[in-house]
This record gives sequence, structure tokens and C-alpha cells, in this order.
Amino acid sequence: MREKRLQAAWDRLDRRLFVDRPLQSVAHVDAPLPIGCGQTISQPSLVFEMTRLLDPGPDDTVLEVGTGSGFQTALLAMLSSHVYTVERVSVLGERARERLGNMGYSNISLRIGDGSAGWPEHAPYHRIMVTAGCAALPPPLLDQLAPGGRMVAPVGPRMEQDLLLVTRPLDGPLRIESVMKVIFVELVGPYGWSPADRG
Ligand code: SAH
Repeated sequence: MREKRLQAAWDRLDRRLFVDRPLQSVAHVDAPLPIGCGQTISQPSLVFEMTRLLDPGPDDTVLEVGTGSGFQTALLAMLSSHVYTVERVSVLGERARERLGNMGYSNISLRIGDGSAGWPEHAPYHRIMVTAGCAALPPPLLDQLAPGGRMVAPVGPRMEQDLLLVTRPLDGPLRIESVMKVIFVELVGPYGWSPADRG
């Protein structure tokens, strides 16, 4: 059962390794924590729930938009065949690259740059996880979702988004379901919020 795989991978993750030293003593708390550059690592229960919704299988390729600390990336890497992850803020991307490299993951490709337009070179993806709040679903990400694929993304205004589960059936139109209300930092980029919009 997939839930068992998820739980087993989850049990191997140590969130302390993904936050700065002063925050390590509170890393077990179910709350978002700052990771620098105005960004946050989500609360663990939300990372778990989003991954459960995404439901990555061992043969799936995954695109993640918003690497941040690399915590979600590591979980996805344990559950899928390869994770392509994109981080816009270079300091965070370099830190996550080093951290994930030191942990020995060999099935993660990390690119620093805009992920609101996805990563077309490796598309299509079986699974797409967006971990920053989108004003609207970015069309390039929908284009890069394989038939039979699933995408999880927070979409809506800056202060509160709907967590959307998007599924692309083998034929027929996309299905979009709102699962719950969430709050994420903004997806900034050509298919997200523009830096000038930031309040
Ligand atoms: N999943 C992360 C949390 C990410 S917070 C974790 O587990 O730690 C959201 C991240 O999205 C931030 O690091 C932010 O810099 C990044 N981001 C925002 N807009 C982006 C874009 N257009 N492309 C790639 N990353 C983006």
C-alpha cells in the first residue's frame, strides 16, 4: 500500500537537518519555520498531506517547484524514480543542493531559476508538486503534466490559498478539486506573482 511506503519514508526524515542550528530544538513542532531569505519550510503535517495527495509511485518522475530547504524534495526522492526541483532564490537552492548531496540522494536534479514555467526539458512529469502560492494555475505546469498524472498546488490570493489537486485523466478534461485552505509564500515569476506586486 502506498500509505505504508509514505509512512516508512516519512519515518526516515529528520526535519532538524533542514533548518538552521538555532531552530533545530523546535524542528519537531508542527509549525512552519523560517529558512532565510523571507521563505519558510511548511509544517510537517502539511508536507505529509500534500505528499499523500500527490501519491508518487516508484516509477514516477516528479517536478517540484520551490525547493526551499529541500525537506519536501527529500521525501519525494524516497518515493519516486527521479525528482526535478527548481528554486528561484540562489542562496536557498545552493544550500539545498549541498544538503541533499551530503545526504546521498542520487535521484534529484536541482535547478536554480524560475519554476513557474516548469522545467520543459524533462517533461512530461507523472507528478508535479508546487510548494509556493500561485495566483492561478500556471499553464506551462499543466502542459507538463503527463496523462494519468497528478499535480498539487496552492492557488489563490496571497493571504489564503486553496490547495488544489489536479488530475489529468488518460483522456478527457482536467479534474480540479479543492482539498483545503492553506497559506504559502508566493510563487514569484512569469506565471506567478510579479516581484512588484509584493506587499
Ligand atoms: N518545500 C519547501 C518550502 C518551500 S517555500 C520546503 O520543504 O522547505 C517556497 C519556495 O518557493 C521558496 O523557497 C521560494 O523561494 C520558492 N519559489 C518562489 N517562487 C518560485 C519560482 N517561480 N520558481 C522556483 N521557486 C520559487
